[in-house]
Parts: sequence; structure tokens; C-alpha cells
Amino acid sequence: MLRFFLAALFCVASQFVQAQLNCSSESYCQIILKDYPGLGETTGKLPDEATLQTKLAYMNGTIRIPVVVHLVYNPTLPDQKLSDEMIREQIEQLNIDFSAVNSDLDKVPYEFRSRIANCKFYFDLKEIKHVETSVKEFNCGNRNAEKRKMDPIKFSKTKGSDGLASTQYLNIWIGSINDGRGREPLLGYASPSNSPGIYDGIVLNYTALGSTALAATNPKIKKGRTLTHEVGHWLGLIHIWGDKKCGDDHIGDTPPQEFSSQGIPIYPRKSICSIDSCGDMFMNFMDLSADDILVMFTCEQMERMRSMFVEGGKRASFLHNGFINDITLVDQSIRNDAHAAVITNLIDIPGKSPGKKTGKYISWTPSKNAKSYIVLTRPIESKLWKPNNTNNNAITLDNLMPGETYEIIVRTFFDNDSPSTQSTPYIFETAKLLDRPVPKSSK
Ligand SMILES: [Zn+2]
Repeated sequence: MLRFFLAALFCVASQFVQAQLNCSSESYCQIILKDYPGLGETTGKLPDEATLQTKLAYMNGTIRIPVVVHLVYNPTLPDQKLSDEMIREQIEQLNIDFSAVNSDLDKVPYEFRSRIANCKFYFDLKEIKHVETSVKEFNCGNRNAEKRKMDPIKFSKTKGSDGLASTQYLNIWIGSINDGRGREPLLGYASPSNSPGIYDGIVLNYTALGSTALAATNPKIKKGRTLTHEVGHWLGLIHIWGDKKCGDDHIGDTPPQEFSSQGIPIYPRKSICSIDSCGDMFMNFMDLSADDILVMFTCEQMERMRSMFVEGGKRASFLHNGFINDITLVDQSIRNDAHAAVITNLIDIPGKSPGKKTGKYISWTPSKNAKSYIVLTRPIESKLWKPNNTNNNAITLDNLMPGETYEIIVRTFFDNDSPSTQSTPYIFETAKLLDRPVPKSSK
């Protein structure tokens, strides 16, 4: 495979760069496997890939996951006592991200837009447990097997909180945690999907909680993407760089990537292992960029996560646990697929009036129950929007001024009770010289 070839070719030549250690899911996974070698591989190629697509096709609807949050806090440290509202906002952000209705999807570069997935999961917050503890900071030193005490925050006997049945609930523990070394902040980690039930779930540093809505009112608050990232792990995804230099994340539509990202990289960014691709997909939730720019899962990541719930899948218990009202595969999405359109293609075409006007073919992501679309365009400096109607998820505008900057919005109307949705505004430029050639005059 090309990725392995490139990795082998360049491994020797390059310097090792230390990844930011703010998600310890991979090392946690190694320790779980050390203690429980019978568990086997936690990641890798999907089993039974030949029938997987058929099975997935039957699971068209939203997968609903009941969630219990354990807020474990020290009452002498008021910062740790988060409000229920903050936790609900965070879970709502999780649902927004897993439904691809996040308002910052426009940060996805044009080249990756067709890979954006609506993963159709709904995380149903059932209970917030408030648990006082005398522990000021839990040492989750799971990188050092000798010194660690495995997951103290997950057990009442170690002054944490006992989880509910992991076959029926996603347990999320929120508290003050460190990685046992004090070198880097530890934002969170997730258990592998086949870990023993008592360890199964996600641990999140209370400082990593947030949502885009909360961050809008207080820039010091994160945008809640650490939890989105950790839930991705919980659903079987590994880091986009494959946890080693130019590693393989076993996902076909994410480009190979040399290392984890940090901060806010500038697109396009290429490395020795992404030289033949569009560059790194550092805006993917499974990278470690800043919350500001983590905005998408891909279609194959979505398939891998949903494959956990097919018959024989590692989280199929959620479908057979007797809580049929709580955990169901529903035919109609919770959100009725009523996501906002995301513009995926803009192609220059000649205009109708040679020499004066130019055109643009524009398409966007379709919605399942969409009845019609209204496309609004205007020159960037104009206040006047021009509407165009269409029943398809594409339109040809052939009366645009050449060399002009335009703004476009797509409104989607549905044939059920769903309210209309609106894409985020998109800016594009028209070509300067796409007019049909003027025939030479003959004397
Ligand atoms: Zn991670």
C-alpha cells in the first residue's frame, strides 16, 4: 500500500516530532491490552467488509446512545463545579458535530467538502450525576504502568463515581485529571470499544468542556471538540495520523499525515507523506488542532463508527439491551436529515452574453427530504440578494459579472414539518476571461 511504502521510505530520514499529549486514548488502549491480552486488536480493518455495506444500508436512521455524565468535583475548588447548563450545551455540541450541522463547516477546504459526513448519531443525555470528592486532581497516569492506579475517577472506592452498565450507556466522567507526569495538559481519553465494561467510557478534563455557543460568549471556553474527538475513539476511530509517523488510520478518505497537528494550521499543508494528496486534513475531528478548526468527520469514518452497531459489532449490545425505547435505530433521522446545505462544487462556465457576463455551476450536499432550494447570490458589496429556485442540489448561474466577488447562501425547504435550513454564507470569485472567443472579422 502506498502509505506503508512512503512511511518506510521516509522514516529514517526525518526527525521525530513529539505530538501534543492532550489525548491519551492510544496509550490507554495499550495498557488495557497489556492487562487484558485476550482482547486482541482494538482497531484495524473492518471485519466482514463484504457484507458490511449491506448491513449498514439497513441502518439508515439515527443511532441513539443514552448518556450518563458523572461530574466528579472537589467542593473546595469552585471551578470544578460546572453547571448542568454547561454540560447540556456540551452534549448538544456533540450532537451538532455528529450530525454535520455545525455552523463552522465552511472551514472545510473545497477539496474535502464532498467527504463531509452526517454520522447520524444522537447522544441522549439521561442523567448528570454530581459526585463530590476529596481528590483535587485525579492522576490518570496510564502512561506508566508501574505507578498507575487504573482510572480512579471511574470507581467510588477510589473517590470517583461508578459507571452505569456500559452495554446500555455511554459513561462520561468529567473532572480534574492529569497524565501523571505534569508535562502536558491531559484533555481526555476514551476506552477502546472492547475494553472490560467497568473501564468502558470517556474521561474528560473539566477544563475541556464547552460548545461553540458558550465559546461565543466567553472566548476562554473551548468549543467542545475534545468530547467529539473522544467519542470518535469510543466509536472505533484512531487518530488521523495513525499514531505513528505517516501511520495508517485504516480510513480510505483521510489523507496520510505525518504527525498530529497543533493550533491552527494553514491550508494547504503538505508533508512528506501527503505530497501527492490535497494535503493534511487537519480540520478532521480525529486530529489535535485547536477546537476552532476541528469541524468534520469523513464518510468512511462515519461508516466505521456505525459499523460498531451492526450485528456482531462491538457495540451492538446497545441495540439488544431491553431499553428499546431508549436505544433504537429509527427510520427517520431525529433531525429528519434537515441539515444545512454545504456547497461542494463551484465550476466556471461561459456566460450567456459573450464578452460581458460569465457563469458558475454550483452544487451542494443534498438532504434526504429536501423539496426545493432557494439560492441567494449577491456581489459582495451589494445589499441586494438575487434569489434562484431549483429542485436539484445544483444550479447554473450564467449572468454573473466577470472578476467579481460574490456571496452565496443556499436555503433548503423540506417536504415534512422540518423548518427550512440555511447554509453558511460562501464567498466565491468569478473568472475574468471565460468568455467565448469573439470571431475574427473578415474583410
Ligand atoms: Zn485522541
